[in-house]
Amino acid sequence: MKTPFVTKAQLDAITARYPTPFHIYDEAGIRENARRLKAAFAWNPGFREYFAVKATPTPAILKLLHEEGCGCDCSSLTELMLARRCGVTGEEIMFSSNNTSDDEFRLARELGAIINLDDLTLVDALAGAVDHIPEKICCRFNPGGVFTLAQTREGFQVMDNPGDAKYGMTRAQIAQAFTRLAAMGVREFGIHAFLASNTLSNEYYPALARILFRLAVELRDETGVQISFINLSGGVGVPYRPEQPENNIAAIGQGVREAYEEILTPAGMGDVALYTELGRFMLAPYGHLITRAVRKKHIYKEYIGVDACACDLMRPAMYGAYHHITVSGKEDAPCDHKYDVVGSLCENNDKFAVDRMLPKIDMGDLLVIHDTGAHGHSMGYNYNGKLRSAELLLHQDGSVELIRRAETPDDYFATLVW
Ligand SMILES: *Cc1c(COP(=O)(O)O)cnc(C)c1O
Repeated sequence: MKTPFVTKAQLDAITARYPTPFHIYDEAGIRENARRLKAAFAWNPGFREYFAVKATPTPAILKLLHEEGCGCDCSSLTELMLARRCGVTGEEIMFSSNNTSDDEFRLARELGAIINLDDLTLVDALAGAVDHIPEKICCRFNPGGVFTLAQTREGFQVMDNPGDAKYGMTRAQIAQAFTRLAAMGVREFGIHAFLASNTLSNEYYPALARILFRLAVELRDETGVQISFINLSGGVGVPYRPEQPENNIAAIGQGVREAYEEILTPAGMGDVALYTELGRFMLAPYGHLITRAVRKKHIYKEYIGVDACACDLMRPAMYGAYHHITVSGKEDAPCDHKYDVVGSLCENNDKFAVDRMLPKIDMGDLLVIHDTGAHGHSMGYNYNGKLRSAELLLHQDGSVELIRRAETPDDYFATLVW
């Protein structure tokens, strides 16, 4: 059962001030979750979460997470600029990009960010782009092949395909990169890998940690460099479907601790800091897309037309992703109607739900689309002349703040050349 963090009475008051559609975020939920993550890794003194900015690149969110001790994981020039304007600088920024441009390297360097190199060729590219190579650097590892986790008790199996992913360096390349960088004056090294996305298993991070911890010991022994941090990156998932189990971040932290004490501590590497770059886990459940039912249509199926579209939330159209829907105020009504809930794009994949059993929907009803806090508004676009929606923040005291206004036609026309 997924319950919205806003009631119908709250939404009626909010929509009187801010027209639908909009994304709304839950400050209390975001803070509590960030604290749970921090507590789960409190055993590691150097631990830091670098929030994946691409998930929700909104200043109020980045600042709120910064207050909870999170840095920013940036992957582009504008994300770096955004972090700077939010007061996040220096080693509070992780720059994990790929196919990186010289401009991006220069700004990352100017800000004092930790640069995560995606490829061996970027060693020379970075050296050519900046005046001084940083003393601390990270390299991204790709083990190739297929990454699998044994079937867990919950019955969910993780499988992803690093061998088919464009990211990271091979085992041989990362050793070569470390040796070259050490010769250029780098003194502290980190290792990063992202092997599976949206995992629903407490075993993903511990399994990834084992791979990276063993690699760290080997690379130290082979190259003689000092490895000061390991970046477990993103990939801890959230249950989009109501029947899926939640990850237990305390158990995940404990699993990583066991791997750490088994591999790093005995190797004399008990001072290695752990970093994460979670996006989805930090924000997805704490965002809703609120949209109103505005049209209905009956042909071969029953359609409900809402005032949001795939431009506000691309995941269903792009990946066929499931997002739970609650009809606000009808939480306890029987789900005895089958609908396709659709936007107005001239694309037949513009459907938030297909053949979904929901309570009877009346025109004017407010629909809560769940788990849109990450990779929701941020993946928005302007196809069909659609304007991107506003973002609101529900504060802990119940007040609501506009943290990004909706686009207007002037925004749409602003870049046109006549
Ligand atoms: C997208 C991304 C993340 C965040 O991934 P989530 O699945 O949102 O946790 C972290 N690091 C890198 C390099 C990414 O590209």
